[in-house]
Amino acid sequence: MTDGKVTTADDLLTSCVHCGFCLEVCPTYRLTGDENNSPRGRLRLWREEAQGTLDPEPWTAFYTTECVGCLACEPACPANVPYGAILEQTRREHVANARTRPDWRLRMAGWLAARPRLARTLFAPIRALRHWGLIRHPFVFAGQPSVVETTANYAQRLMREHRPTGPKVALLTGCVMEALFREINFATVRVLIANNVQVVVPEGQTCCGAFQNHAGLPGSEDLTRQNAAAFALHDVTAILTNAAGCGLQLQHAGVGTAPVMDVTTFLGRRSLRTQSRRNRSARVYVDLPCHLIHGQRVELAESLLDATGYRWELAPGARDCCGSGGIYNIQKPDNSREILAGKSVFLNTALGDPVILATTNPVCMMQWNSARALGLVKRPYLVCHLLQLLDPGEEFTVDRTNEV
Ligand code: SF4
Ligand code: SF4
Repeated sequence: MTDGKVTTADDLLTSCVHCGFCLEVCPTYRLTGDENNSPRGRLRLWREEAQGTLDPEPWTAFYTTECVGCLACEPACPANVPYGAILEQTRREHVANARTRPDWRLRMAGWLAARPRLARTLFAPIRALRHWGLIRHPFVFAGQPSVVETTANYAQRLMREHRPTGPKVALLTGCVMEALFREINFATVRVLIANNVQVVVPEGQTCCGAFQNHAGLPGSEDLTRQNAAAFALHDVTAILTNAAGCGLQLQHAGVGTAPVMDVTTFLGRRSLRTQSRRNRSARVYVDLPCHLIHGQRVELAESLLDATGYRWELAPGARDCCGSGGIYNIQKPDNSREILAGKSVFLNTALGDPVILATTNPVCMMQWNSARALGLVKRPYLVCHLLQLLDPGEEFTVDRTNEV
């Protein structure tokens, strides 16, 4: 393997030693008990096809699409099998060879994600309905996104008003986040500037390409080139993302010389002001996105969670997949629901008023929010991005002592 890309079938042939350490962490193996639905089983199917000892058959394609893509198997593997890279390559080959046809919603979403300006325009009515509180769609969580002002304009405006003097970072605003959940981008900008970080939002940036890779669709290389050109124009300490899947994609693809990291990783290294909270009865349950802890292999700093000012604890099974998988809830809704059912049941009896489920990935947020609509959780709860809990709000001052 070179540069995170699988180059030959030899990788498949030699890397897995069949130890089975990955089985118990795999949500599809735990759900079905089927060896073919485990990392080891999938690797065996792919290897045998590559060796020619198994004819290409629909079952291999089926088990390839059954994988959530959570990457929990990677850190569990003592042989360092590059499972995620192998999976992505295999999916692309299956789509290219017409062995798999992604759902039309995935093809449409992939096409739209690569056209962020169009996506922002098309989703403006939804942002407007959310802004005025006129929409209660089960897959849309609470928040008030800006309808017209972009995150790039907002960041420029706040930079002029507050003039932070600390390190300079570039922010990826993302396709889903900017089109639908822009309030999270705005909160991210406020948290960074309040902590004396200079923020630029490069013009010309686009979707990171993770969506295309999850679905096996072509086009992520073009998006990487576009992002690399946009981010190269800025001399920054770091390139930040507030969606774990986007961060992992940029880290693998490479977009410039500055390190790519999740905004929670960056902020976890600074000493943040603790938000003051009047509501002492609220309780935050923190869920850890797979692409953050298994993909990027980073944890959320306790100091960051303490800085929310809320009483918090990790959600039960916080390290397990929620079943979102970026596209999995569209591609395999029954499996996705089953995985979420096991994980979300605790919310029915969780202490706190309100009960708040916090995570750091928009697709995970949508998945958690769907638990009520699917009837898995029968009491109200709030779903939010961790950055929203660190948000000082519109009226803030810059902590100029935060120079690190
Ligand atoms: S990525 Fe997740 S679902 Fe897929 S094989 Fe690995 S652990 Fe199982
Ligand atoms: S843990 Fe790694 S080496 Fe062991 S069976 Fe799973 S993929 Fe193969």
